[in-house]
Amino acid sequence: MFATKFLVQGVLHISLPPQFKMDKNQVWDAVLARMGEKISRMEFLTWFKKVEISQISGGAVELVCPTEMNANWLQSKYYSLILANVQAVMPEIDKIFFRIDLSLADNESKKEDPDVFAAPTKPRKIRNKPEARVAPGLNTRITQEKFSLDSFIVGDENQFAHAACQAVVTSTCDPQVKAQYNPMFIFGGVGLGKTHLIQGIANDIRRQSPGSVVLYVTSERFINEIVQAIKNRKTDEFRKKYRRVDAFILDDVQFFEGKEKTQEELFNTFNDLFEFGKQIVFAADRPPSELLGISDRLRSRMGWGLLADVKMPNFETRLAIIQSKMKEKQLLLPPDVQEFIATNIRHNLRELENILNQISAEMDLQGISPTPQTVGKIFRSINPEREIEIKADGTSSLARCTDDLITIISDYFQVPATELLGSSRKKEIVFPRQICWLLCKDILKMSFEAIGKDFGGKNHTTIMHGIRKIRTLARTDSQTARHLHALKKDLGLK
Ligand code: ADP
Ligand code: MG
Repeated sequence: MFATKFLVQGVLHISLPPQFKMDKNQVWDAVLARMGEKISRMEFLTWFKKVEISQISGGAVELVCPTEMNANWLQSKYYSLILANVQAVMPEIDKIFFRIDLSLADNESKKEDPDVFAAPTKPRKIRNKPEARVAPGLNTRITQEKFSLDSFIVGDENQFAHAACQAVVTSTCDPQVKAQYNPMFIFGGVGLGKTHLIQGIANDIRRQSPGSVVLYVTSERFINEIVQAIKNRKTDEFRKKYRRVDAFILDDVQFFEGKEKTQEELFNTFNDLFEFGKQIVFAADRPPSELLGISDRLRSRMGWGLLADVKMPNFETRLAIIQSKMKEKQLLLPPDVQEFIATNIRHNLRELENILNQISAEMDLQGISPTPQTVGKIFRSINPEREIEIKADGTSSLARCTDDLITIISDYFQVPATELLGSSRKKEIVFPRQICWLLCKDILKMSFEAIGKDFGGKNHTTIMHGIRKIRTLARTDSQTARHLHALKKDLGLK
């Protein structure tokens, strides 16, 4: 018998004598396989895929990571998980060290992902059915289940509207409470949360009072139905259907502008519901007073109750919204990436969904690590004209250290990061390397000595001459000037 078998919590472990010891790759594979139960495929692709064990000695394991952020993240978030699983494979280990090797970032890992993290062969199951019916018998009017007043992040800019929506839910569900805000009219620009709030009202009423009939409908759909009903001479049926609801919620009423016939039908619906004390909620991109294509009598009714506006939330609220969306999408992003997104989503929160979906897809399918650089690229791919800022004050660029610059320049010129750091004298390497030095100087404000140290211990005069050469070329050679311009744009500098 050369292997000792023992059972711990129902798992079979085999400890081998030294001559059968696994090599470091096998150890890491075994550790990853064990961790499969604790981390998701996405976490694996983001933080573990490009990591390797470089050394095992003296009771310690050294892990190499492709970026500084990867190493910091493993150290701060996964240290005990990694250690526990390394110890399960090699009980003598009591420390994990991290080292950075930029060349790993360029390695397209040919290694298969361990089975536990292999890409799913079947399409992912969507756990929450995205659309749910609101009222039985009114099955074309749908809301997104995920929108609720609870999942709406409250900041100064939308607090009033949110509180008013809560009051509407309470008064609709509880016959003892008098409806104070009827009708309620929410207005504000595109992507600021109006639909979320009013679908939240519909969903919350349905949850709290399953017997009530709530109707959420977009104006486009409502208008189409009116037109169809008129065409098929079924206006009576249409009216009956709409007038038996407890709460009537109509989104984007600006679409009624200029449509007189359908406005008339809405006017009648309003009067009937209002007369019977039924709750009415409207949302639009402007207040009623600015909906000039809507008749005076309808506009004035829209303004009878409570008007509440929503504005773009501030940085902190945006950050909280990002975090709640990450949770919803089971997406893990480091704090600097969250801040980067919060800084750059400034006008419309609908963009946020796009950006997060795109990040999630690229992490899943291409194994990218979410960094301000990779996310900056996604921002630009969605909107090439956009100016990118890293900090709320818009001062600094996407690069904060030599590693960041090397990653960007290596990607731009398609030369391996190791070559940029090395001492090859080939022209196609020397030129991008000297550009790196120039940007280290201009953007990171590093001294010649510090640059030399980061680039494999080069003499400060070598760095000085290299930078001077690029500065001269930038004035005399249009190609160089173009490269610098494009790189600065990539770095988020205007
Ligand atoms: P609007 O109807 O005003 O154009 P939406 O309600 O469609 O905007 O909001 C756009 C996106 O932003 C949605 O995904 C929504 O969930 C999100 N959103 C906006 N404001 C908030 C908030 N305060 N908390 C959470 N999500 C929000
Ligand atoms: Mg909307």
